[in-house]
Amino acid sequence: MAQWTQQELLGAQMPPALAQMVDSGRLVHALCLEGDPEDRRLTALAYALAGSVLCRRQKGRMCGECLDCRKVLEGVHSDLFVGAGTAAAYKKEAIRQLRQQAWQSPSEGRGKVFLLPNAQLMSVECQNLLLKLIEEPPEETLFVFLCPNRYQLLSTILSRVVTIALPPLETEECMAQLRQQAPGFGEEEYRQAALLSGGSPGKGVKLLTDEGEKKQAQTLWQLLDAMSAGDGYRFMVLMAPWEKDRAVYSQLLVALSRLLGSDEVRREKKISLARGISLRQEVDRTRQRNEANGNTALLSAALAEQLRR
Ligand SMILES: [Zn+2]
Repeated sequence: MAQWTQQELLGAQMPPALAQMVDSGRLVHALCLEGDPEDRRLTALAYALAGSVLCRRQKGRMCGECLDCRKVLEGVHSDLFVGAGTAAAYKKEAIRQLRQQAWQSPSEGRGKVFLLPNAQLMSVECQNLLLKLIEEPPEETLFVFLCPNRYQLLSTILSRVVTIALPPLETEECMAQLRQQAPGFGEEEYRQAALLSGGSPGKGVKLLTDEGEKKQAQTLWQLLDAMSAGDGYRFMVLMAPWEKDRAVYSQLLVALSRLLGSDEVRREKKISLARGISLRQEVDRTRQRNEANGNTALLSAALAEQLRR
């Protein structure tokens, strides 16, 4: 279990819909928190919710000082269960055990909390085992499914939980998390990774440390430079190595389109909003043609031609 400072949990950013539920003491019994699993805010939020259920001093947000809160902060509360978050750990046997635990009365707190990180890694069978439990939950119990994308969960689960999405991190915040999670890089590299990842520290760490991801990130950065400068030739040279594999080519175009849609990236690359919109349309059109089996080299050449306008 994780350990937290008071400030991290008491100051956990709650999206407005969630804050309202917690503050009014009307927290639902099953939630899905959608966000990057590597984003520390997501886990902090889940623990803060656990604190609000277990705190013995007050309803609403956790006080941070009572015995229960202190145990939540230290990650040792016996009524707080945290799944291991791996496919190997989410076995049927483990889920059956969890169901039993849920039906036992709390051993010290006001209720029980089950945090399920990377819930998307649960098999259909395991999710179905949990379904009945969240349909008719024991009293004073909170289940929190954490996952990067809600649609990776069964629709039957989704229909019984309230889903709260965490907005992406601002560039500066994302850089701060990257410095912690992947130390030893330069400020410019952190900035690039934060921008290219769209504010997702999990993706950002991969961009910094995984050779394949790094190469693609550099290409994207340079493609944006070429687009900004209207340098069609340079654009074609950069695209060439990615033309062999149609799926990879599409991925690159999806990422490029997303970046052209980011205000911060366009500002950084000195691309105006109007030009960003028209370039994005061209990139999307190129991707559609690629998916309709167009010749990738010709598609790159046609796109490069558009840059000169
Ligand atoms: Zn408390």
